[in-house]
Amino acid sequence: MDVLVDDLRGRLRAAADGAAKADLGAVVVTPGANLEYLVGYDAVPLERITALVIPADGEVFLLVPRLERLAALASPVGDLGLPVVTWDEEQDPYLLIAQRLGPLASIGVADDMTADKVLRLRAAMPDADQRLAGCVLDRLRQRKSMAEIAALREAAAAIDRVHTRVPELLRIGRTEAEVGEEIDRLIREEGHLTVDFIIVASGPNAASPHHAVSDRQLQAGEPIVVDIGGTMPSGYCSDCTRTYSIGDPPIEYLKAYDRLLEAQQRAVNSVRPGVTAGSIDAHARDHLGDLARFFIHRTGHGIGLVTHEEPYIMADSDVIIEPGMAFSVEPGFYVESQWGARIEDIVVCHEDGVESLNTRPRELLVVPENRS
Ligand code: ZN
Ligand code: ZN
Repeated sequence: MDVLVDDLRGRLRAAADGAAKADLGAVVVTPGANLEYLVGYDAVPLERITALVIPADGEVFLLVPRLERLAALASPVGDLGLPVVTWDEEQDPYLLIAQRLGPLASIGVADDMTADKVLRLRAAMPDADQRLAGCVLDRLRQRKSMAEIAALREAAAAIDRVHTRVPELLRIGRTEAEVGEEIDRLIREEGHLTVDFIIVASGPNAASPHHAVSDRQLQAGEPIVVDIGGTMPSGYCSDCTRTYSIGDPPIEYLKAYDRLLEAQQRAVNSVRPGVTAGSIDAHARDHLGDLARFFIHRTGHGIGLVTHEEPYIMADSDVIIEPGMAFSVEPGFYVESQWGARIEDIVVCHEDGVESLNTRPRELLVVPENRS
């Protein structure tokens, strides 16, 4: 996404304010979604440290290995006019961070910083108490701007177009892996830059929520859970599940599926500003009744520059849902060695209610058994 430089400046200011409020002397961010969000730099994570350093009070700077300087400047970092501090191979970059920051009582490290970097920073700043910066960064990232919501809407439309084409791929005797290969192609064809995951879970494999694909052949009358997602050129992700079957599944399954469908819709419709994440989870879980014991995961996860992020929609969570939050609502049931089902939409909480970004029909999609 072409993020405006002014937006990035606003995010950096908000991060510095957040650091101050959280009593952190500074926040240190290494390559990953946080860095991309704050300065638009989609840097490759390397063993050599690249770090955006945001003091609660003071000048933000980007520390990069000398060989990464031009790559950094080619990103929006160049337009932001941030000081780009380079380090040479014979230097200790962690000492450079320590020297520029001066003594601090506490420092926030991005949650996705790798352990080697966290420990080397600790060695360079032994008096700074290290804490996770998620309390600052997640807080910012979980409320999406209108431009971010538009990017997520585009991602959802792209994955919906893939689901539209899934029925034509489902044939008795085809393997999950063969269907997966076709879906891989379609995900790119419909506008994604990368394919992030493909789940084609047929029959008893559908009882495993994170089954990927296997050489199992599709059979008549059994569910096929298809959960797919990718990353768009904007950097924003898609994630959507629909459940299919070739020919009619047993009536017992259809009844359970109908209940799931209602549970999912109730949970989606309960989304509005001020409710807790736990209450959304309860709407899905409570309506499942006897089936709830087969609903073995949380109801949903936030989504943005990565597929799983805050807010997590889980039982007893007292996280308050706010306008701009985007997350999945994806209840399911998983009966070991028998079958499973899941229905997943990405939704956005607006001031005046909920918007489902995925719009494909949620009913079980039964593909005719005898097709040539
Ligand atoms: Zn999914
Ligand atoms: Zn999901």
